[in-house]
Amino acid sequence: MALNNILESVSNKLGIEEGVLKDLVERRTLRPMEYHGIGYLVFRREWKKFREGTTILVKDGEVRIVHGYPSIQRILLLKAIPRHFIDDVVVEEKLDGYNVRVVLFADQILAITRGGYICPYTTARIRMLYEEFLRNLFKKYGENLVVCGEVIGTENPYVQHYYPEAPTFDYYVFDIMRDRFFIPVTERNEIIDDVGLKRVRRLGVIDKNDLDSVKEIIRKLEREEREGIVLKDPKHRVKALKYTTSYTHFHDLELGMKYPFDEGRGFLFSRILREIWKIYEEGLSEEELEERAKRLGLSILKPAIDSIKLIEEGGAVYEEYIIRVPDIKVLDEFIEYMDKLGVHVALAQVTTLENGVVKARIIKMKETDLEYRRILRTGYSPLD
Ligand code: ATP
Repeated sequence: MALNNILESVSNKLGIEEGVLKDLVERRTLRPMEYHGIGYLVFRREWKKFREGTTILVKDGEVRIVHGYPSIQRILLLKAIPRHFIDDVVVEEKLDGYNVRVVLFADQILAITRGGYICPYTTARIRMLYEEFLRNLFKKYGENLVVCGEVIGTENPYVQHYYPEAPTFDYYVFDIMRDRFFIPVTERNEIIDDVGLKRVRRLGVIDKNDLDSVKEIIRKLEREEREGIVLKDPKHRVKALKYTTSYTHFHDLELGMKYPFDEGRGFLFSRILREIWKIYEEGLSEEELEERAKRLGLSILKPAIDSIKLIEEGGAVYEEYIIRVPDIKVLDEFIEYMDKLGVHVALAQVTTLENGVVKARIIKMKETDLEYRRILRTGYSPLD
């Protein structure tokens, strides 16, 4: 679809001058994209009432705004909870995957990532699992709804975290938006249960002053090795908050520090900060602190050193994951899509399974590999 047609339709529908839209495209605030005959514009940063990650879909003159999923405020101290909320607080599990908004537009079920892109892979996988459930939801409760949820499991290009209940790929709904607002939690649950989709676990509904219950929930999540919680007002009168477990802080560091020159850098300070305040609020004994410090140290050092050893022994430092698509066309679309977003991946192995389903092993090289090789060769540090 020609960009001019997209801009004309959007301009007519939203009452924004075409010149302004063109300017936004030139300044790269808006990015034009296309998926299966649908043209769309992605807000790469916030602009006026449009959040980052907002997508405007266009087909045959029909225009639909899908607002971005808002950022969730993190808390470092649980004592922020009574100050933030009004009375009751819904405590939900925070799943470690990636955020996907599902909509129905031009008779197609589309999966939109946090950044606002229609991901051909996620769209295909969600359709394979839940196309009928989702169509039913939109038919019964309104085509203007936006289903927001987390894709979890290991078979995806973004976040590979193993969950026993979803080892490969699944979708758990955590919110439903109407326009740019969330519908109340009870209504959300009724809709999801009615159509048979899965939703994130509710871990409790507590009084905002009952921090003992929150602490108990966190201790349980630590034992179960889960990511953390998202706290919500039952009617979304105030914004949600998030809080994560020590398990996650160390787990993130372990993953990131396999690649210190890639994810490692960005992960280090934020995860350490989260853990510092958690330790402070927990009031650990000297002995417990030493134990925690040992875990922290190992989660940083061990993966980083293991990667050096890997190279020394003739290996390479790269990231790999498996994806599974309904047919080879989706695999091509996916590679092209990643390329367009500037993520260059290599196909390591492609296997055709029954019913034409294709399984592919994808490899992404890491900066760390190059940096480590340079250091091993010269002994010089790339940083002062
Ligand atoms: P931010 O929200 O600040 O933009 P981020 O994109 O780095 O941060 P996270 O820190 O992982 O994301 O936390 C927010 C994300 O958590 C949400 O965007 C959503 O994808 C995910 N999430 C998992 N479980 C839930 C849940 N129960 N409710 C809301 N979001 C959840």
